[in-house]
Amino acid sequence: MTMPRRDFLKAAAGLATTTAIALPGCATTVAGASGKVVVIGGGYGGATAAKYLRMWSNGGINVTLVEPNPDFISCPMSNLVIGGSKDLAFLTVSYDNLPRRHGVKFVRDTATAVDTDKRIVKLAGGGEISYDRLILSPGIDFIWDKVPALAAADAQAKVLHAWKAGPQTVVLRRQLEAMPDGGIYALSIPVAPYRCPPGPYERACQVAWYFKRAKPKSKVLILDGNPDVTSKAALFRKAWAEEFTGIVEYRGNHVLTDVDVAAKTAKFEVQDDVKADVLNILPPQRAGAIARSAGVVTANDRWCDVDFLTFESVRVRNVHVLGDAIQVASGMPKSGHMANQHAKVCAAAVVALLSGQPANPAPVLNNTCYSMITDKDSIHVCSVHQWDKDKKTLLPVPGAGGVSTAMSELEGTYAFAWAKNIWADALA
Ligand SMILES: Cc1cc2nc3c(=O)[nH]c(=O)nc-3n(C[C@H](O)[C@H](O)[C@H](O)COP(=O)(O)OP(=O)(O)OC[C@H]3O[C@@H](n4cnc5c(N)ncnc54)[C@H](O)[C@@H]3O)c2cc1C
Repeated sequence: MTMPRRDFLKAAAGLATTTAIALPGCATTVAGASGKVVVIGGGYGGATAAKYLRMWSNGGINVTLVEPNPDFISCPMSNLVIGGSKDLAFLTVSYDNLPRRHGVKFVRDTATAVDTDKRIVKLAGGGEISYDRLILSPGIDFIWDKVPALAAADAQAKVLHAWKAGPQTVVLRRQLEAMPDGGIYALSIPVAPYRCPPGPYERACQVAWYFKRAKPKSKVLILDGNPDVTSKAALFRKAWAEEFTGIVEYRGNHVLTDVDVAAKTAKFEVQDDVKADVLNILPPQRAGAIARSAGVVTANDRWCDVDFLTFESVRVRNVHVLGDAIQVASGMPKSGHMANQHAKVCAAAVVALLSGQPANPAPVLNNTCYSMITDKDSIHVCSVHQWDKDKKTLLPVPGAGGVSTAMSELEGTYAFAWAKNIWADALA
């Protein structure tokens, strides 16, 4: 049920509109904070953390951001590139402001190892950087063992995930353009948890939006490892039935076991094989590999448990983990918005700790995820997450948040504003 806007605003206690990126219950500039922080990963979590550490320490903390990519490329909105209404340039934001305006040291490299005893990060380029505190926001890596035929690089180049925005996003678009009218695009979704719960269903809509205009005899087949749509289910099902009638077919309980790359066929635990013209596989996921080197992978051999007051690893001191890599709290999605909020709670805590003060004892975070149904119309889900001192975790605030009543163009304008706002918040 959607909560009236004024009630939502009241519940969020002045934190957020559904389009604004709020400060998670904290943070003014702290004088006297100093020390060296290394941030690994310049995505939604890491870029935000690097910028806010500099701002909230008034330039007192020396911040180095390690990231191999020359520019930030956003996963949110990347499904529009696959649908064909936007291009990669729309998703791309320069890192330049982080060094220029905020004094972050940007090191274009990949972290290959972390020595948590000596507090040193080792880089692929041969260098080493020491830290007082380390922040990891490496996003996800894929568990290729669960899709053995895709373990090899040449197979991965043919059957794409496009679940890290960049070159694969563009190649998947080209595969769809090359597909004949009357063809089948099949999308395999892993069992939750995975990056961006509504993202696959948004992708199905974007491909269907393209087919409806350019290849109306074609089909979108959703092969979901989960028993049902994991996010905004009623809204997506309505869009498939009414906006994309006869184009989208949803099949639950399709747990992928492998693919036949040459035959473009997906294989499942129980269900029959499915052959497609374009096969798009989202493999099961876990924290980015550097988390393992730092010894912070603690949950199911996949994710990193953290103390939600500081986002410090529960296992390794002075190492904080943000974003998709963490073992989430109840009701918390793996989203860019959430990673941005983790980053702010963590940055405020690190600034406090490096100036001899306690971290905020009662953080509040919020999340909004828009999903584009067409090139203009959108739906959203939002939630507020508050520290519970008895349970010592973040819990969703009952009644704060909800989903859209229906897709609309107005929500589409909010969705584009959300994207521009969060890119500016992290990178401007
Ligand atoms: C198609 C799609 C649509 C989505 N839509 C939305 C949406 O509408 N709203 C929303 O909130 N979220 C959305 N998401 C989810 C969102 O993209 C992620 O939740 C978010 O990117 C997580 O942030 P992160 O910092 O954990 O990881 P990322 O943003 O992926 O950043 C990780 C960074 O770490 C770097 N890195 C990794 N390993 C190393 C290393 N060893 N050394 C140096 N750097 C390293 C990577 O290069 C990368 O830049 C979507 C995702 C997808 C795939």
